[in-house]
Formats: sequence, C-alpha cells, structure tokens
Amino acid sequence: MTLRIGVDVGGTKILGVAVDETGRETASVRRPTGWGADAVADGIAAVIDELAVPAGSVSVGIGVPGQIVPGSGVVEHALNLGIERSDLAAAVAGRTGIRPAVDNDVRCAAVGARALLPGLESLAYLNLGTGIAAGIVDATGPRRGTRGAAGEIGHVSIDPAGPACRCGQRGCIEALAGGGAVAQRWGRPADLPVRDVFDAADGGDVRAAELRADLVRGVAGAVQLLVLTTDVDAVVLGGGVAGLGDRLLEPVRTALAASAAASPFLRSLRLAGRVVLVPQGVAVGALGAALTPDAVPHDLVTRRAAAG
Ligand SMILES: [Zn+2]
Repeated sequence: MTLRIGVDVGGTKILGVAVDETGRETASVRRPTGWGADAVADGIAAVIDELAVPAGSVSVGIGVPGQIVPGSGVVEHALNLGIERSDLAAAVAGRTGIRPAVDNDVRCAAVGARALLPGLESLAYLNLGTGIAAGIVDATGPRRGTRGAAGEIGHVSIDPAGPACRCGQRGCIEALAGGGAVAQRWGRPADLPVRDVFDAADGGDVRAAELRADLVRGVAGAVQLLVLTTDVDAVVLGGGVAGLGDRLLEPVRTALAASAAASPFLRSLRLAGRVVLVPQGVAVGALGAALTPDAVPHDLVTRRAAAG
C-alpha cells in the first residue's frame, strides 16, 4: 500500500499530512518555516521523515507559494520564503531519498478541494488570502499553462478607476479584494483586518462599508472571470478570507445575481449558484499536495538505502 504525504509550505508554517489509499488523513505535522532555500528544504525533509512510517511505499507532493518551472521541481519567485530560484525537488530528494512532485500551493489546494467536493467534475479554487490567485482542476489534473502561470488572475484589472495596485495598475482584483490591500487601505491594526472591516461595516462605519463593497465586487469579478474563461462546474472560495463564511458568500452571490439581472447571457450561466465555500477545518492545500497526480510512489526500503 502507498502512503501519500502532502506538504503545504506557507510563509510562516510548513504543514504536512499523511493520507491513506482511501484519501483519509492519518497523521499531520506542523513546523515553522525557515528563511531561504536550504532552510525551507530542511523543514520539508523533517516533516517527511516524521510522517514516512516504514510501511510499503510512499509518495510526496509539495505545494509552494511560487511559480514552478513546468515539468520540473524548480521553484521561482517564492518571495515569502526567501527563494528567488531553487530546485526544491532535488534539494528534498537529496535529504530524504524521495523525489517529490512540486507544484504551486493554490493549484494543490484546487486538487484538494476537488477531492473534498466529489460532485464537481471541474472547479476553480479561488484563494482569497493576502493576495489573490486561482487554481483550475478537472478530471485530468490541474491546469498549469506553458509557463506555470495559469490562474494568476489577481492582477487582472476590473475597474480602471479603482484603487491603485502595487503592480502599477488600478482596480486589480487583488487591489479590491486582496487581504493585504484591504488591510493597507483600512489602516487600522487588527489580527484579522478583513474581519475587522466586515465587523466595522456591520457597525455602520462608512469607510468600512466601502472597503467591504470593493472586496465583494473584486471576488464577484474574479468568479465571473473564472467561469467565462474556463467554464468550470463551480468556483470554490478558499484562503483565510473565506473563513468569513456566509458573511462573504451571501453578498458575493447577491452581486453576481445583480449582474445577471441586467444580462440574459450572464443569467444563463447561473453564476450565483456556481460559487461555493471550501469545507472549513480541512488542510486543503496539504491534502491536495498529497493527492497531486504527479507524485510518484517510492519503495521505503530503497529510500532508506539511498538516504544512507
Ligand atoms: Zn495589480
């Protein structure tokens, strides 16, 4: 039997899960993330060693917040990890004897979301975190594109008169709905700035209500963009901001229904009914990394020999 290990590398923590052949999580491990390519590879290897019990064979998938050179394990522009360019698959293989599959973290989360929502043949996972990006997956696996950039929709501008974005444009989806941009525009210190904005808006704060409306507009625009470009069965909202649950989902559905009211074409696409929340309380990124179709099983006895 093959034990599937999935590792989700975040800016502050590395989360690993072990999944059995039925897709059930059997163990999980968490460690702080180090800075730079060597420290990140060390942390990943430690998580794998803790999870890889010597029982049959093991496969490893790793999700990283950066771009992956297609067909390789090379990570580029993982700036949150202090990695400009690194062959992470080779670095982890050198430490553990297991060559992992490496993919973008949001793309891994899309694979995980599809496993958790078996009614959906295809989906786009819209990650609402500090920044915004999407992963697109269907029965053949995740869509990557020729440069590994498929789904990087955060810097599509949907409002030329909107707020300035760090990329130099105005009204990008990320400038309207990214947690980092919202926190910067709000300017009030809070552990969870987007939740603070929603609470203040509920309390009648006019500025907060504007920021909330922008966020909802950005998310609804991203949903429409993803459906019109990929025609997936559903768009799944995930990431930290999706923890707002129905407080986010309901106004997004209302905004989508409002644009549909003015357009028979949009109405025919039933956008409001095609947006759902990712199941809460599941490590969807690590699960998806474990289930990524590129992860190859390794015999553990061979691994021990190779690792010396
Ligand atoms: Zn931008």
